[in-house]
Amino acid sequence: MDQLRCTGCGRIYTLDPRMWRCACGSPLDLQFKPVIIKDQIRKRPPTLWRYREVLPIEEEEHFLSLGEGMTPLVPLEYHGCSVLIKVDYLYPTGSYKDRGAAVLISKAKEMGVDAVVEDSSGNAGCAIAAYCARGKIACEIFVPESTSKGKLEQIRSYGATLRRVEGTREMTAEATRKAASATYYASHCWNPYFLHGTKTFAYEVWEQLRWRAPDTVVLPVGHGTLLLGAYLGFKELKEAGLIQTVPRLIGVQAVSCAPLYQAFERGTEEVPPLGDTETLAEGIAISNPVRGRQILQALRETGGLVLAVREEEIGDALKEMGRNGFFIEPTSAATMAGLKQYLLHKTPKETVVASLTGTGLKSVGKMV
Ligand SMILES: *Cc1c(COP(=O)(O)O)cnc(C)c1O
Ligand SMILES: [Zn+2]
Repeated sequence: MDQLRCTGCGRIYTLDPRMWRCACGSPLDLQFKPVIIKDQIRKRPPTLWRYREVLPIEEEEHFLSLGEGMTPLVPLEYHGCSVLIKVDYLYPTGSYKDRGAAVLISKAKEMGVDAVVEDSSGNAGCAIAAYCARGKIACEIFVPESTSKGKLEQIRSYGATLRRVEGTREMTAEATRKAASATYYASHCWNPYFLHGTKTFAYEVWEQLRWRAPDTVVLPVGHGTLLLGAYLGFKELKEAGLIQTVPRLIGVQAVSCAPLYQAFERGTEEVPPLGDTETLAEGIAISNPVRGRQILQALRETGGLVLAVREEEIGDALKEMGRNGFFIEPTSAATMAGLKQYLLHKTPKETVVASLTGTGLKSVGKMV
């Protein structure tokens, strides 16, 4: 039986589908020791399930798959530097959130859960709804009113019940927590199984670089589910002796909603919540990151940092990436704007990977 450990007070719990956080209020991590078998990996189809030994699902029959994983790693000349772009919007639902949802909903299925709730600014809701459809699990998604129309339509198309909540994003979270007292909370930010899905980002990059880690990884960061997943994956590889160092992790936020940037700059351990703010980058418009403490720790441990980008920089990067053949959502343009800032400090031999997390197709109404 899986065991969970509190990230705040260290208390250990045996897995219970009704419990989504510690009694002390902190998020839980899964206690997990992976076995990595390179030769097995090579033989399998190119989906994230090729790393099944490192995924916390017991039985293969419980894997819920829509063919996700092994997204391309494409070279790009960007502001005078060679970088590698992980095209993570090439997922069944159009964002990297499928990594987390595939594993989390497979686990829910394995536990015999038949209904879930989730709250999201859009892409996580789409991913959870799609995998619930695949697993024939009832699904209810709470979204703030400001969510892009394309994402709302997509969630509805998977047969999920959509609850649009008026008011702030925090009010959406509050409404969901109420629902979660009776139904399994398939939360991308609270549920630790989600991170064991997003960690496949690290395994794929490692394999695509011929079993090496890059030096630096640039990722968008709101609740940090991709950043913490990447950290977890690279850390597992390091502990298994398969890479030497965990790459430097660079998080990118929008200046108009940058709680992690502010906390990092101030050198604090906790992330004080901000009020609600608006940014084009809706995927990282998170004023109160659930795992803020862990994110800061991962950034500091890897010698990374947080960069903040202005709305004009996001708009410019969006246009520029379109001219390079990548049609992305503004949140991913924020990553590229952050990458541009970072490249001023890149050394010639450094391998830098950035992720394009979301497709542009869902947010056309929001763009200029
Ligand atoms: C969710 C999302 C992010 C940010 O993920 P966090 O877990 O909040 O850090 C980035 N880009 C896109 C496209 C997303 O959907
Ligand atoms: Zn605790």
